[in-house]
Formats: sequence, structure tokens, C-alpha cells
Amino acid sequence: MGLVTKAGVEEVTRRITRSAIGSAGFKEQLTEAVTQVAAAASTRDVTTAVASTGDAISGGLTRASDLGSALSDRLFGTSRPAPAATPAPKEAPERNVPQEALVEEMSGRAPTFFLHAEGLGHETAYNMINSELLLDGSARLNLATFCTTSMPAYADKLMAETADKNMIDKDEYPQTAEMENRCVNIISNLWNSPAGEDAIGCSTTGSSEAVMLAGLAMKWRWRAKMRAAGKPTDRPNLVTGANVQVCWDKFMRYWDIEERIVPLEGDKLCLTADRLKDYVDENTIGVATVLGSTFDGRYEPFTEIAAELDRIQEETGLDIPLHIDAASGGFVAPFIQPELVWDFRLPRVCSINASGHKYGLVYPGVGWAIWRSAEYLPEELIFHVNYLGGDMPTFSLNFSRPGSEVVAQYFMFASLGFDGYTKVQQHSSHVAQYLASEIEKIGPYELITRGDDLPVFAFKLKDSVTNYTVFDVSERLRERGWQVPAYTYPANREDLAVLRIVVRAGMTHDMADLLLADLRRHTAKLECLSGPLPSSIESDDQIFAH
Ligand SMILES: *Cc1c(COP(=O)(O)O)cnc(C)c1O
Repeated sequence: MGLVTKAGVEEVTRRITRSAIGSAGFKEQLTEAVTQVAAAASTRDVTTAVASTGDAISGGLTRASDLGSALSDRLFGTSRPAPAATPAPKEAPERNVPQEALVEEMSGRAPTFFLHAEGLGHETAYNMINSELLLDGSARLNLATFCTTSMPAYADKLMAETADKNMIDKDEYPQTAEMENRCVNIISNLWNSPAGEDAIGCSTTGSSEAVMLAGLAMKWRWRAKMRAAGKPTDRPNLVTGANVQVCWDKFMRYWDIEERIVPLEGDKLCLTADRLKDYVDENTIGVATVLGSTFDGRYEPFTEIAAELDRIQEETGLDIPLHIDAASGGFVAPFIQPELVWDFRLPRVCSINASGHKYGLVYPGVGWAIWRSAEYLPEELIFHVNYLGGDMPTFSLNFSRPGSEVVAQYFMFASLGFDGYTKVQQHSSHVAQYLASEIEKIGPYELITRGDDLPVFAFKLKDSVTNYTVFDVSERLRERGWQVPAYTYPANREDLAVLRIVVRAGMTHDMADLLLADLRRHTAKLECLSGPLPSSIESDDQIFAH
């Protein structure tokens, strides 16, 4: 979420003054003056006409100045001195509503800075907000986000019906809790938790929270091990590739973990096994690898990474756990790449996270964290709460959370089944690979990935293209509503600027053809440029980390 800073004095003043000018009283005053001017003009009475115009203007100015003092009083408590003669008798304010709120309200504006004294009523408020939201981009044309933008109507219905249930309140809503249990079981089995090990897990608000929890578990286990060996515990570190999602940087910074980030080099655009040995040591709490890089959808070479950690253990005795960040891939690989062994079948894997709201096919925010067994989830991290009745073990950063997300996840599992998920992901994968191969044919583009890991791919402009950049292409596509982000890779490949397309359920072959037509048209125009475009179009969303 963007952090919001409260609007400053200048902004409030500008907006409120505009509201005042738009307010009913002011308009009437002006209309009256204009009528007088017109009447005077028709009798050729220039003196009256000038006087009326003057009155109108001074009326407006008085209003603006009154408002100015009221504002400055409220914001600073230091208005210009009131006219000395008649100090107004102090009356207790009838309602504790600032004058500016009344001005906003009078002029029929939406509440922007203050709570209005009187609400708009349900219907008007609904219509107002509904219209305003039309200005948001169309979720369907958003090829930037990994998050679900289309669910069946029955899911909407169920979610609306369960939005009032609190996930944490397992005693009052035991059946919602039961659905969470079933989901944890289904997901553990989907990720091949071995029959002899009791996987343990929970729902979260998304992969970010799941990563925080998994990271904490690794930190606590590492600390216990170091303490038992009588070694210092003040310098934990975690190893990841520079291409990990921002939640890992957050985890390391928030919890004081040294960031051991393996940079990208040349065509190594993710974490690779060969460089691991230079980054791990006895203070390494774990290695995190991504199943589906945010930057281009590629799967990291998890088999080689796990094998290298095995080799390091044989050579040095260091037993370093591997966490798989399967935010996207956790609900893709099991269905369309069943031959890949990326999950609990790799003994090195201690925990896995995924976002239910990405390829899990649920609207934001639900995620999942699963540990191989209770051994990997230190008991000290689990809180037992009894104030909702019963004994409830919890491991989460949040407390209250809507039950509708978990219910919706369970609904998708129940309604689609293995076959349904396979069809949906297979379709996205076909569309992604079709788009990638057609884009390659246009001419100036070079694929970084082809959409055959996640249904996601990135492409760059060939080095021979010098008159325009990927940022210009992104900007042009935006004109038709397509959101295709352009950004640069992280260290050490900041020189590599790409466009990325995320194909999700709801993107059809027909829509893909429409996108291709727009891309071909814009590219042809850009190719006709006789010189470089001014480089003013460096986009705001440079580093894009959905
Ligand atoms: C999206 C993503 C995250 C963060 O997931 P949220 O569910 O949005 O919190 C973490 N890791 C990867 C690889 C991602 O793609």
C-alpha cells in the first residue's frame, strides 16, 4: 500500500477555495450580478454595470478571505487579527464540524479532507464512488499484475456472504476454520508432503506475510542451533538472488537479517547454484529460491540449488535449509509441469509459500505457508490464545482477517478440482507462449523468457533499436488501456530494460490477438521515427515488483 501523508495546508486551501467558488451561494451571487450587469447594459447605464461587476468581484473576494481566515485559524490557530471593533460573542459550536467540511458539503463535493456533518446516504454514496472508480484501469487489460482479476459469479456471491466472518475467530466460525484446515491439507498434498511427515501450515494475507513467517521460522531454528552449539547469534544472514520479490528485502530489513544477495551477471538472470558457496556460512539461516521470478516468470534452478546445498553440507557440515517462494509457481507447476520436482520431494526443502490470490485463482488477499513438519516451525513462534473460547494456536502477523478469502480458496478447489486447475493454467500457458512467439516475429523485439515456466514472459528491444525504448512502447499501449509494464532488472543488470506480460485466467486468445494488433501498429509507427524520441518518458513504475 502507498503510505499516505496528510494533505498539507496549501493543498487543502486550494481545494477548499475551489469548492467555495463552486458552492451554491457563490454561484447565485454571481448570477445575480451578471443579471444586473446585463440589465444595466441594456439601458446603456455604464455606471451601474461597472458597480455591479465590482460588487460581484468583491463579494467573491470577501468569501475567499473569510474562508482563508477560517482555514488558517483551524490549521495554525493564528489567523490574521479579527476586526478589532466587535469581538463576536463566543457561542458554543453547535456541531463539532470544521467550517471547511461544511463548505465541501455545501458544494456537493465528496469528503476529501474531513468527515462531513451529514452523510450522503447509501445510494448517493454508492453512485458517487462507483462512478469515481471508473477512472481506475480495467483489471482485465492489466497484464502487469499477477493477481486474480476474474472469478466465477458464485465466488462473488460466497465472498459477499462471508465477508462478515472473522478468520481468527475459529470458535465462533468453526466451519470456516475447517475449510482452512482442508485447504492446508489439499495444498500440502499438492506439494507432495511425504506421507511420513506431518506438514503444518496456515493461511495468510498473501505471500508476503507467508514469507515473513517462513523467514522467522528459519531464523528461530538457526538461533536455537547456534545457542545449543554455544555460538554467537547476532549475525544471521539469508541468501537470495537479486531478482527476488520485495517481500524478501522487507523480511531481511525488518528482522535484522544480513542481506546476502547474489547479483545477476550476464545471462544469469536469477540465483544460480555455482555461486552459492561464496555466500553461505554458519550464520546463514536459509536460502530462498523462487518458483517463478517476478521479473520474467522463469523458475530458478531449484534442483541444482538443492544439490549444491547437499554438496556444501557434505564438504563443510553446514546444513542449510531451502525455502521455496512459490508465490506464483505453487499453483502452476503441480498442474502443468508435473514432471518438475521442486517441492517437498526435495528433502532440502523446509518450507514453501504461495499466493492464493495469484494462480490460486482467488481475489486478493490470501496466501499460504506450509512447513515440511512441526520440526521446522519452532514452538516459541506459536501463540495460544484462549479469549475467543477454546485453545487456538496461531502463527500470523495479523489478527483479524475476513473469512471470505479462505472460503473462496476452498470454493475454487472444490469447484475446479485438479482437472479444472490444469485446464485454466494450461490455457494461460498456451496464450502466453502464443503471445511470446508472435511478439518475437514482429521484428524489433527479443524474448528474455517464452512463457513456458510461468505463463509470464519478458522481452526487450534489440540493441539495434535506438530511436525508442521499452518505456515508449509501454506508454503507447497504455493509450488503449493495456497495462504492460516496462522496467529495468536489478543489480548487476540495471542496463537491461524489458516489457513484461503476465497472462492469467480471463485472458483469451482473442484478447491476445487484439493486444498483438495494437503492439504491431504502435511498433510500426515507432519504427518510422527518423530520430530518437526525447528521453522524457522514463516511466514512474520502473522497478516493478508485484
Ligand atoms: C507476488 C510475489 C510475492 C508477494 O506476494 P503477495 O501475495 O503479493 O504478498 C512474493 N514472491 C514472489 C515470487 C511473488 O511473485
